[in-house]
This record gives sequence, structure tokens and C-alpha cells, in this order.
Amino acid sequence: MSKSLRLSEKWFRRGLWLVALVFASFLIGLGGTIVGDLPKVETPLRVDDFLDKTAADKLRAEVKAARQAEQDAQTALEQAQLQRSKVRSEVQAERDSFNNWLSTRSATQRADQDPEVLARTQALDVLKLAERKTQQAVEAQQQAALDARQAAAARQEQLSRMESDGYVKLNAERRKVELRVFLYRLALTLPLLAIAGWLFAKQRKSTYWPFVWGFIFFALFAFFVELVPYLPSYGGYVRYVVGIAVTAVVGRYAIQALNRYLERQKLAEALPDQERRKELSYDVALARLAKNVCPGCERPVDLKNEKIDFCPHCGIGLFDHCGHCSTRKSAFARFCHACGTGAGVKLARED
Ligand SMILES: [Zn+2]
Ligand SMILES: [Zn+2]
Repeated sequence: MSKSLRLSEKWFRRGLWLVALVFASFLIGLGGTIVGDLPKVETPLRVDDFLDKTAADKLRAEVKAARQAEQDAQTALEQAQLQRSKVRSEVQAERDSFNNWLSTRSATQRADQDPEVLARTQALDVLKLAERKTQQAVEAQQQAALDARQAAAARQEQLSRMESDGYVKLNAERRKVELRVFLYRLALTLPLLAIAGWLFAKQRKSTYWPFVWGFIFFALFAFFVELVPYLPSYGGYVRYVVGIAVTAVVGRYAIQALNRYLERQKLAEALPDQERRKELSYDVALARLAKNVCPGCERPVDLKNEKIDFCPHCGIGLFDHCGHCSTRKSAFARFCHACGTGAGVKLARED
């Protein structure tokens, strides 16, 4: 494709390659948007979709109620403990004062004070009873808190069991959804790849080749790059298998093309000089000469050596003499560079 030596044509071709790349980038953007929107085809799944909804809700409400009860019991327990310590210190104070009083009394041994002993003992008993009651209240709240905690734990365990069953089902369903989404994507990108293959085989040299190549770039990118982030684990297999298949097809094509080229070259080198000259396009011949290779067989030749008029490898004439002024000139030149006379040999026109 880059056989031309004309400067503007070269730049036009580069511009057209740019068109191909820009076309490909817009197609890639569009394809990426479509592929990115594909998961929205499926509604997202939640674990609740796989639970006995009423049973789960009931359990959740029970757990919540038990937790609340535990909290209430805890608050009540703190209150009861406070009451108990108040009464305890009261009892302690009363007992201390009574003991002191008793010890003074035993020293004085006054019989008239006996009823007071009785009264104070009774008062102390009442206080001790009150202390026992606060102790009972504390124990009752401790029991209530413990019951509530255990009830909550039991319900929670039941709920967790139920949810873990739900998660197993959810994951199984998610894998199915992933596979489905992957297949949608594959169904979208694989035909693109097939079309790209067909375009490569049939249309890559057509007038509209920049669009053809743009589409080929897009299809390759969409399949091998854009599909990747959406591929579930097994998607890797598809990518590599298709990649191997495509490489094998392209490689086989390239090997055959090389063989065809060598075959053609061999046939061409067997033809007479004039025939071979006609086969070569003017621009191709000039491009090869500029690279110091023989235009006929593409092997290196020392063009600066004025003694070499023919290719030592294939025998094609490289230099001849002008029919008018006999100046030594390139056999591929259309006009004599010394006198401007047209070359006797009519070269094949460029493509
Ligand atoms: Zn040659
Ligand atoms: Zn001349």
C-alpha cells in the first residue's frame, strides 16, 4: 500500500489511516457503551428473594424484640443494683450504730432500755428484709437479661441458617445470570469478529479500506479487550480459544501468501527481460531502487558501481543507454535525464 513515491499520495494515505483509527475509536466507544449497558437487562438479585419471606421477617422481628428486651432488662438491672447498694449502706449504717449502742448499753447494764433493744432489732430486721427484696429485684433483672440474650442468640442462629441457605441459592442464581450476560456479550462480539474476518479477506484493499480497517480494529478490540472486564471466570477459555483460532487462520493465510509470493517471484524471474519490466509498476521499481535492491528480485545490488548494468541475481537490466544521445541511464526511467528523449521501452503504468 505504501508503494507510491508521490509525496502527497503518501500523506493522503497516512491521513486515511488516521480516518481508520478515528472510525475505530468511535465504534469502540459505541460498542463499550452497549456492552456496559448489558447487565441492566437482568434485575439485580438479593438474598431475600431466596428466603421464606414471612418466616424471615418474623424471625427478624423476634430478634429485634429480644434485643430490645435485653436492653430494657439491662437498664432495669442497673437501677435495681443502685437501689440495692443504697439499702445495703443503710443497713450497714444502722448495724454499726446499733452495735455501738449495744456496747455502751452492756457497759451500763440499764434494764429500762430493754424495749429499745427490741425496737431497734425490729427496725434492723425490716431494713434487712428490704435489702433482701432489692437483692431479689437485681436477680430477677439479671435473669430477664439473660433470658432475652439467649432468646436473641437462638433466633439469630435460626435466621443465619436460613440466610446461609438463601446465599447458596443466590450464588447459584448469580452464576446463571453471569453466564447469561456473558452469552449476550459473546453473541454481540463474536459476529463482529466474523464480519471483521470476512472484511479482511475480501475488502481490505477496496476503495473504502479505511472504514474496513477501522471496523477490523474495532472488532478485535471489542472481543479481546472490551469483553475482558465482563468475562466471568470461564470467559477466559472462550477468549483464548478464539484467539488461538484467529491466530491460526491469520498465520495460515500469511504462510500461504508468502508461498504464493515466492512462487510468483520464481515465475517472474523466468520470464524475458521485457516481460518482467511490464509486470513492474513504475513507482514500485523506483521505490525498490531507492532502497538499493533489484526491482525484479528484491535482492541487494550495488547501483553506484557503473560497471553493473544487470542484476547479478536475476539478470534483469538495471541500466541501458539512451537511444538518442547514448547516455547511460536507469533502465526504469521513462525519459533520458540528459536529453529528455522518451525511453524506447514502455514501462507498465502504476496501478
Ligand atoms: Zn534481480
Ligand atoms: Zn538521451
